[in-house]
Amino acid sequence: MVQAKELVQFQEIDSHIESSKKRLVEVDSQLQETEELRAGRAELQRQRQLTHDLQSRQKSTEMDVDQTRARMSALDARLMGNQVVNPRDLPTIERELGNLRQRQSAFEDEVLSLMEQVEQARASLDRQEQVVAEMAADWEEAQAHLLEEKGRIEAELPQWEERRQQFAASLDEPSRRLYERVKARKGGQAVARVEGGMCTGCRITLPSTLIQRARAGKEVVYCSSCGRILYVG
Ligand SMILES: [Zn+2]
Repeated sequence: MVQAKELVQFQEIDSHIESSKKRLVEVDSQLQETEELRAGRAELQRQRQLTHDLQSRQKSTEMDVDQTRARMSALDARLMGNQVVNPRDLPTIERELGNLRQRQSAFEDEVLSLMEQVEQARASLDRQEQVVAEMAADWEEAQAHLLEEKGRIEAELPQWEERRQQFAASLDEPSRRLYERVKARKGGQAVARVEGGMCTGCRITLPSTLIQRARAGKEVVYCSSCGRILYVG
């Protein structure tokens, strides 16, 4: 004779196996870098590049300053050393010196501005490095927990499968067939406990006569709404 009391135990084993498998899929999907960490690392990379670019620009502008200064010194030396062969060249040289002085001043302003930008970029980069380091540490801790959970579920699942097999073997053929048939029809849950006068499979309030019949355990009683096998414990 089919006993709801047995079937509810079978159901509990199945539910455990089902939820363990579901959790494994969840854990696996979380065993990868989070979007937040990926975005944090991408931002860190962008800031590193920006700092590097600004530093390169500062260096090259400093070289411009040096080169301009060298040309001005050379022209000054020509003027001071009276090396100008043709006096008609004097206005040209003085005009060029004037131009060089202007450029020199513009380059120096740019160096100052770039130094400031490099300093800001470096400070921002330091902050971002700190943020990503903390994020990565949290992530690694979470990953360690997930890996531990995955290992535990993977070790326990075969034991539950074994338990299921043994339980299935202990049931008589009609009980097992009934269980599997209802389970297949009801999305994996064949048996529903009755709690507070309600079917836990579909949350409907059951007629008390139905509950009394289910409690008596002399026959298989189905929920009038979802059709699951009812168990009153
Ligand atoms: Zn129901």
